[in-house]
Parts: sequence; structure tokens; C-alpha cells
Amino acid sequence: MPAGFPDFRLGPVLATSFTGTLSERHGKPVERIPVPQRLVDWLAVSGLAVESCTTAQLELARELRESIHAAATAAALHDPLPASAVRVINDRSAQGRAAAVLTPEGKRRWQLSSATRVEDALGVIAADAISIIAGERDGRLALCASATCRAAFFDTSQSRTRKWCDMNTCGNRQKKARFNAAHRKSS
Ligand SMILES: [Zn+2]
Repeated sequence: MPAGFPDFRLGPVLATSFTGTLSERHGKPVERIPVPQRLVDWLAVSGLAVESCTTAQLELARELRESIHAAATAAALHDPLPASAVRVINDRSAQGRAAAVLTPEGKRRWQLSSATRVEDALGVIAADAISIIAGERDGRLALCASATCRAAFFDTSQSRTRKWCDMNTCGNRQKKARFNAAHRKSS
């Protein structure tokens, strides 16, 4: 990882892992893809490797990210989906030309039409978002209980009662605060 950039918090669901590249939206936001190279890095660890990324492509990515965040938040709250967010998600999905291919080991891999087509990778992410917002997958969209986070996440727990996002910090932070409060009281 290049020094000085925030690390990634990867989750099991591509679309919400992507929206997690901006965290603490309601606190002090942390931008985890501040430069094009960091989007290249994120795509590589997410199975969508590209060779390069331009500033314009990074802007497209961030626009998609915030559109997924807005639409997933509305879906979690059972609110109408914001039309502008739906348009961006659909445009990215329609303009992606990635193909799903099967590896000899029987795994799915994404093959982009060219190594510089960030748009293809964004198309895969947009389609993933569509499948969870449309309720096609086994799980429930929910919002992180942390007041400074409120990230939309996809709860696949059996009881569907998860409270915290995938970022692995919100729940831990809350636990630590409770522990400290209890500790203060007892001492
Ligand atoms: Zn959270």
C-alpha cells in the first residue's frame, strides 16, 4: 500500500464493499480512494484488476459509489429510490462490457473487455448493487447503527439482526465505548 493513504475495509458483498471506500459519511468522512491509483488498488483486491485509471474514471467511480449508497439507503428504509441515483447505476451497468468466465477450478472470474476499461469494472459493481437492491439475493439491506457511519450493508445473518456494517470498526468502537463507560463507573 502506498504510504499515507487510508487502508481498505473490504466486505463480502462487492457493491457495499465499494460504498465502504468512503466511510464515516456522517462523522469525519474518510476517503479511501483519494487518487486514481487507489481505485486501481481497490479493484485489484476486489477481483476486477485494471492497468490504469484516469481522473475522469475515478470521478465516474465515485459518482456510482454515492448513487449506490443513496439507492441502498432508500431501499433499507423502504423509501422511494432517488431517480438520479437509479439513472447513474443503470448507466454504469449498461455501459459495462465485462464477461463472467468460468475458471478450470470452477470459480467465476470477471474478464474486462480491455485492461484500461474501468467502466467495465464499474458495470460489474453496478449490476451487483442492482441485484441486492432488487431483493434478488438472500439477505436484507440495513443501515449501520453507528450514528457517524450509517453505511448501508447487506445482512446475510440467519436472524437478519446484524446492527453494524462490514467495516469492522463500528461495532468494535461501540463495544470499546461501552467497556470504557462501565470501567469508569466501577473505578
Ligand atoms: Zn458502520
